[in-house]
Amino acid sequence: MTKRIFKSIILASVIVLLASGGLTMGVLYNHFGNQLEEELRTEAEFLSIAVENEGMAAFDSLPAEAERITYIDTDGTVLFDNESDTENMENHLDREEIQEAMEDGSGRAIRESDTLSQRTLYYALRLSDGRVLRVSSTQYNIPGLLGGMIQPLLIILIITAVLAGVLASRLAKNIVNPLNHLDLDHPEENQTYEEVAPLLTKINRQQKSLQAEIAEAKRQQEEFSIITDNMEEGFLVIDSHTEVLSYNSSALKLLGARPQDARQSVLALNRSESFQNTVEKVLGGQHVISNQEFQGITCQVAANPVFQDGKVTGAVILILDVTEKMKGEQMRREFTANVSHELKTPLTSISGFAEIISDGFVKPEDTKKFAGRIFKEAQRLITLVNDVIKISQLDEGKLPYEKETIDLYEMAREILKRMEDHAKNEGVHLYLYGPHIKTNAVKSILDEILYNLCDNGIKYNKKGGSLTVTIGQDEERPQITVEDTGIGISEEDQKRIFERFYRVDKSHSKAIGGTGLGLSIVKHGTMFLGADMKVESTLGEGSRFILTLPEDE
Ligand code: ADP
Repeated sequence: MTKRIFKSIILASVIVLLASGGLTMGVLYNHFGNQLEEELRTEAEFLSIAVENEGMAAFDSLPAEAERITYIDTDGTVLFDNESDTENMENHLDREEIQEAMEDGSGRAIRESDTLSQRTLYYALRLSDGRVLRVSSTQYNIPGLLGGMIQPLLIILIITAVLAGVLASRLAKNIVNPLNHLDLDHPEENQTYEEVAPLLTKINRQQKSLQAEIAEAKRQQEEFSIITDNMEEGFLVIDSHTEVLSYNSSALKLLGARPQDARQSVLALNRSESFQNTVEKVLGGQHVISNQEFQGITCQVAANPVFQDGKVTGAVILILDVTEKMKGEQMRREFTANVSHELKTPLTSISGFAEIISDGFVKPEDTKKFAGRIFKEAQRLITLVNDVIKISQLDEGKLPYEKETIDLYEMAREILKRMEDHAKNEGVHLYLYGPHIKTNAVKSILDEILYNLCDNGIKYNKKGGSLTVTIGQDEERPQITVEDTGIGISEEDQKRIFERFYRVDKSHSKAIGGTGLGLSIVKHGTMFLGADMKVESTLGEGSRFILTLPEDE
């Protein structure tokens, strides 16, 4: 802009300079021309008076610096000329000024010289005898004048050009400077040319509406980010060139990728062949659902192509962590297999004993013994089926949900009482300590948990050992500790004893009537009550199960 203003000023200066120079020269030239003509006329008039009085003798006293004087006879013959020899001069009758003077009394003419750099002004006056007196003078014309003044003119031109350049540059800078320092972030606060004010107002208005639009877009983006970032499912939007347009943190986590700095290809987020195939297929227009393994996590990947005008313009990919679901399914499958197996063993025994009896291979005195074996196996079956039912109920949350106030001490006392015979048979002493703490809980489930813990405490005890139940409190939370001096559980097994059908010593557990489901029921019951379970145990010394119930609301 500065350059343009500079150029414009220079151009304007040159035009003004040339125009004013030209005009001044024209006016001056005209003025001097008129003046010269006036002088010629005055001189001719003076001289005419002298010639009228003295005749040709008047020419003798002409001063040396006098203009050119020509005296012409009525027939055009030159009688006198102070600058040329009259002998060689041609007849002047055809001259414009002579003819004019002969007709009107006076005549004038201007003739350009051959070189065009000079012109000659003629003034002719008719005398009383019809002869004509002509005075002429030569003057430079405009090109002639310019030619003669070329050097000073060039100097003036250079000086004015430099001056114009310096002034134009300063002027251009002064004009542009306030514009350069405009604060476009706060357009209304600028103090500048009033011509710029409407533009600034418009910028201000546009800036405000732009800011409002940006804020709205940002808000929507944040809203979208909050929603997608709180999704556990991974979420990706890609374009047809595999470039990621939008993603959430779960997607990166599940794919094992780092947060992106800039847009990049989705293929860079996970290099597994299955994922690359999914992207390829979905951008080929196929809907894809598949289970894929990303760093030990089983994910279900659902990819949907996005069509526009019949063309795939991108895809939306959802990634779900289905590890737990798969584990659950695996556990259910294992559970079914285990239950079938556990049921089959006592049933095979029952069937075998019954067959032997029906075939008559058993002596009458042994029938009682065999019947007893069948009864024992049937009891095992009943216990197992009952446990399976309890687990299924807990699994589905189908148990009666009613809470009631329970005196934990009373409940434990009642359970230990039920176990007295069993404990006596095993040679285990039972103890109960603690205050009568009352809490609100589902009684049947809490009973089931305590019963199983105490039952295990007796089952996996030593002769002469003890089982101690202590009622207490952890801060505001009621706590029941079931402690035994039995065989103990290794650290390795402590992690697994709550699994369904897990038994440290399978044959021992079976021999003492265990199903491998007791602690599984305890675990589910604990979860159902919103309680916590902790195990502390030392192999060969005994175990401690601590149940911490939730605080009463
Ligand atoms: P089970 O019916 O076999 O007792 P549980 O689920 O109740 O099944 O217990 C799982 C396994 O944990 C048992 O087989 C046993 O090996 C171990 N266990 C449970 N409680 C104790 C305990 N108090 N002392 C030692 N081992 C125990």
